[in-house]
Amino acid sequence: MLQAVKGTRDLLPGTCQKFRHVEQTASQIASLYGFDEIETPILEPAALFLRSLGDTSDIVSKEMYRFTDAGGDDLVLRPEGTAGVARALISEGLAQELPLKLFYRGPMFRRERPQKGRYRQFYQCGIELLGVESPAADLEVIACGYHMLQELGLSQNLTLRLNSIGDLESRAQFREALKTYLLQHREQLSKDSQDRLERNPLRILDSKDPGDRKLLEHAPRLEQSLTPQAREFFLKVQQGLQALKIPVVIDPLLVRGLDYYCHTVFEFTTENLGAQNAVLAGGRYDGLVSDLGGPKVPGVGWAFGTDRLVLLLDELKSEWKRAPSFALIPVGERAEAELPKMAQELRRAGLRVDLSFSGNLGKRMKRADKVGATAAVIFGDNELNADRFQIKHLKTGTQTEVPRAQIIAELQRLAAQP
Ligand code: AMP
Repeated sequence: MLQAVKGTRDLLPGTCQKFRHVEQTASQIASLYGFDEIETPILEPAALFLRSLGDTSDIVSKEMYRFTDAGGDDLVLRPEGTAGVARALISEGLAQELPLKLFYRGPMFRRERPQKGRYRQFYQCGIELLGVESPAADLEVIACGYHMLQELGLSQNLTLRLNSIGDLESRAQFREALKTYLLQHREQLSKDSQDRLERNPLRILDSKDPGDRKLLEHAPRLEQSLTPQAREFFLKVQQGLQALKIPVVIDPLLVRGLDYYCHTVFEFTTENLGAQNAVLAGGRYDGLVSDLGGPKVPGVGWAFGTDRLVLLLDELKSEWKRAPSFALIPVGERAEAELPKMAQELRRAGLRVDLSFSGNLGKRMKRADKVGATAAVIFGDNELNADRFQIKHLKTGTQTEVPRAQIIAELQRLAAQP
């Protein structure tokens, strides 16, 4: 039997509804902050990610779906959204319109080991604010993310972690200090971290290995290497968050897996999803656009994992309200013939109507129950002759008779009830 590709999922109707709910909430809140939606292609040139994410990132070194197409082009199914937005800024000449505030959503692809909350095709929503150097932009994007999580009813269960990885100068200094320290303890480091020591020692801060984490407790702190400017920048972001009453935990070990970040990095994490605890993550990336051959355009943004927010909503047993719907149940040939016209009238009036197409009254009532209909409209020869139809309330089981001309008004009244 043919199965979905490992690490990919069919989002069935109930789940799909939750995905759309999360995406729509995100898009509405993004729009309150002035972010407009952009959609970039899923297929991008491999060079885009090789140049932006850095050779030592997990994504580039082992997770990209990269292939040569029949025409010989070196392509990748996008593993994340920021690089594509930066590419669009350059190739569409959007640098004339700065500052730019963009929102995106869609599937991303990484060949990771699948588990709960981690898929090979997963979905992200993200925002990018391009063209603003000041910490006000960092504050704006974090505040927007927090607002979305609040709107989804999740902010109580999440922790915002924040760190500064400084400017280029701060980072170069820290890199050396960290490397010197870790070289003294090389033998105690995990194999992965030993490999990273030469190529990207900062990534070791990210290590989940308990031995590594113990060693890191006494490692030099990034904070000590921040230049006065970088320190000032970090402070402004913190003060801004405080003024907005957004709770934050400073996490000196927070670094992001990708090369293009500087200054502010942040993550919203949860205790409710096991190992996959990051739900929203981002930071500042002032060098990205110029690294890709574009003008010098600073940027800051984040992405959340839609799959993980949906899991979290399920975990917290959030209620999903189904839109009210109604079942139309004809009894006999005349009613059956009348059915499409009836259904059309109700739907044109904005009512959700389900038809079961076959079966007797009992079978059709069962289906009405199964789809969660609020009420069933039942009509046969008698009702058609009298021009009065039966409305059966499925929750209470009560039945009322309503003149045909008043059915739409009656169903609209029922649909509006909480
Ligand atoms: P990143 O682009 O790695 O910063 O990830 C941003 C967010 O996307 C994470 O916090 C997760 O919520 C989500 N995410 C990343 N990778 C996956 C994955 N393989 N499966 C599901 N969600 C993911």
